Amino acid sequence: KKILLVAGTRPNFIKLAPLYHRIISEATEYRPYICHTGQHFDFNMSDVFWQNLELPAPDFQLGVKGSGVADTIGKTILGINEVVQQHKFDLVIVFGDVNATAAGAIVGAQSRVPVMHVEAGLRSFDRDMPEEINRIITDHVSDYLMVSEPSGIKNLQREGFAENKVIMVGNIMIECLLRTRQLWEHISLPHAIDAVYKNHPVVATFHRPENVDNKDNLNRVAEILTSFAATETVIFPVHPRTRAKLQESGLLEKLQKESNLLLTEPLSYFEFLKLVSNAKMVITDSGGVQEETSFLNIPCITFRKNTERPVTVELGTNLMMDLWNKTYSTQIEQHRNHIMGRERVSIPLWDEEVSKRIVNTIKRVI
Ligand code: UDP
Repeated sequence: KKILLVAGTRPNFIKLAPLYHRIISEATEYRPYICHTGQHFDFNMSDVFWQNLELPAPDFQLGVKGSGVADTIGKTILGINEVVQQHKFDLVIVFGDVNATAAGAIVGAQSRVPVMHVEAGLRSFDRDMPEEINRIITDHVSDYLMVSEPSGIKNLQREGFAENKVIMVGNIMIECLLRTRQLWEHISLPHAIDAVYKNHPVVATFHRPENVDNKDNLNRVAEILTSFAATETVIFPVHPRTRAKLQESGLLEKLQKESNLLLTEPLSYFEFLKLVSNAKMVITDSGGVQEETSFLNIPCITFRKNTERPVTVELGTNLMMDLWNKTYSTQIEQHRNHIMGRERVSIPLWDEEVSKRIVNTIKRVI
């Protein structure tokens, strides 16, 4: 039986890898094919993940270069459709909430190939986020919904999904982190990062459109980074989208002049995990980083209005913070003290068996 795994971005690659390897090693009756849509294509947003995660070259490389959501999803649909029409797949699997996710799910559904969504049911309840639209579309055309945290089950029940389509499998990103732990713990870091690594730096990542596309908000992000750097060493691996916006607005040069603020290229998966696991705290607007920090018990401050991953706030180490909150530094200090003073809480099914549960479902349905 033939399974098509669709991925387009950095977080997709991380979620795809454990499932790919599990199928190859433990479910040899299936042949997984990888389709890379091309949304992330730079060496440090794509190839380095392929290397770290020991993935083979994609079977299908679409190379889609879109100039916006509609353009990207449209071209990706056309590309995946060609692949699906030429090969008779028994299942299409999509991951997360990016444009490749929605495009893959739409093509599978229209071609009457069963669709499985890994990381189903997450909701921020904020349709200003392009990812929220992708989540809703994907779930509603999928046949099998693989859920990572309890809120996903509740959301899908509320939206009327049949119970037998929805399965709690746990968080596959955490499986990836665990399976590669021996490797990332021993990776050597770039010199400039290594020099401050032992002092528990603050790690920052920002790339959400609401924070970096809006000029006022981007200014505010720069202000927050600068104020952290007044008292801490801050390492900021800059996402290509954010770099372009900072450059446009003249903020890049300003930030580069801050002595305790180290701007770097996006880090490899292994470098990033090693750095985060030793960080004093992480400030972010990422989805996956909220989960990784929760698992690693590193305090995380998420500068967003909402999260689609509420378990990271309820059981994990995540504190949501409005970008414009004036008293954020006091609240952050209190949060850090709270996290550091308590026992690590484990989140149900965030373990090394997630892909096994998914494969068990595959075996049941195709
Ligand atoms: N990541 C990385 N290098 C970096 C920043 C992030 O390898 O410099 C990894 C990290 O594991 C993170 C994942 O990429 O969880 C997700 O990326 P991103 O924040 O871009 O996407 P989101 O989860 O917000 O969709």
